[in-house]
Amino acid sequence: MIDPFGRPITYLRVSVTDRCDLRCVYCMAEDMTFLPKRDLLTLEEMERLCTTFIRLGTNKIRITGGEPLVRRDVVHLFQALGGRIGTGPGQGLRELTLTTNGTQLVKHAETLAAAGVRRVNVSLDTLDANRFTQITRWGRIEQTLDGIFAAKAAGLAVKINAVAMKGVNETEFDAMLAWCGEHGFDLCLIETMPMGDIQGDRTDQYLPLSVVRARLRKTWTLAETDYRTGGPARYFDVVETGQRIGFITPMTHNFCESCNRVRLTCTGTLYMCLGQDDAADFRPLLRAGATDADLEDAVREAISRKPKGHDFIIDRRHDKPAVARHMSVTGG
Ligand code: SAM
Ligand code: SF4
Repeated sequence: MIDPFGRPITYLRVSVTDRCDLRCVYCMAEDMTFLPKRDLLTLEEMERLCTTFIRLGTNKIRITGGEPLVRRDVVHLFQALGGRIGTGPGQGLRELTLTTNGTQLVKHAETLAAAGVRRVNVSLDTLDANRFTQITRWGRIEQTLDGIFAAKAAGLAVKINAVAMKGVNETEFDAMLAWCGEHGFDLCLIETMPMGDIQGDRTDQYLPLSVVRARLRKTWTLAETDYRTGGPARYFDVVETGQRIGFITPMTHNFCESCNRVRLTCTGTLYMCLGQDDAADFRPLLRAGATDADLEDAVREAISRKPKGHDFIIDRRHDKPAVARHMSVTGG
């Protein structure tokens, strides 16, 4: 599938739930109202939509949320999609992966690896136990660390995702880079994005990654590389550790030009852009008995509406998010 701006759309991100066992301050309000379960697609409906995308050329699927591993029986979806990896030359999935907060990985890492998952992104914004609890509001760092090491032990390549927050974790990136190097993990830093009401001011937390990179360069040799994962991060080799560091900079750098992805929410709404409200709703189609051909037509029609880019701006005067829905709805 090629969008109106000539970009091949090969990457689908699927949010399987809006729920989470943590309440990260930049992502959710403490007291969230989650969707009623009947509004969610069933795992079978999700599998059917994913299969439609795979038939149309999608070769990478990332399962996310909310916290994907808190959805009951979600491993069945991984097992079903894992069966579509590499079926026939140029066909099928090349990669099935997930983004998780790691709390349930002790339980699921081996099953995920057996299903065909090879890489996992685990969100960890700090190595300090108290700070971890402050950021996640009620998380315990040991649970996430145990999950990370369970994933490593199961043979999964681990990438650590950290949201860079001014005055919160900005002094830790040297230590995190060293820790990732020691354990064989890549590190990916993310700028905070103005998505969803979080009962607080995000503009105070915004830290441009250009500043972080310049600071890291005082200690580390960051060598240019062509490495790409199919996602929006720009990577550098960290010469001293042999691992990589990635930077996702939606706010300082326009990352839309090479955008190859669309996002499906847990209710079956397809967002063609993380930062725009235009969407296509697949749930009514699925529940009205759409054929495979109907679904394919609807996907193609949605892709034909993919916009050129987002227009995130932090509304400083009104203290309102640029996009009203939470990241946990669209899937980070
Ligand atoms: N619960 C899983 C996790 O935390 O990895 C998956 C979903 S979470 C929404 C996906 C990613 O989005 C996480 O790495 C999280 O840190 C990031 N994220 C959430 N809200 C964000 C925001 N407002 N700006 C930037 N990144 C955000
Ligand atoms: Fe949950 Fe992930 Fe959002 Fe944190 S970032 S509240 S772990 S969905």
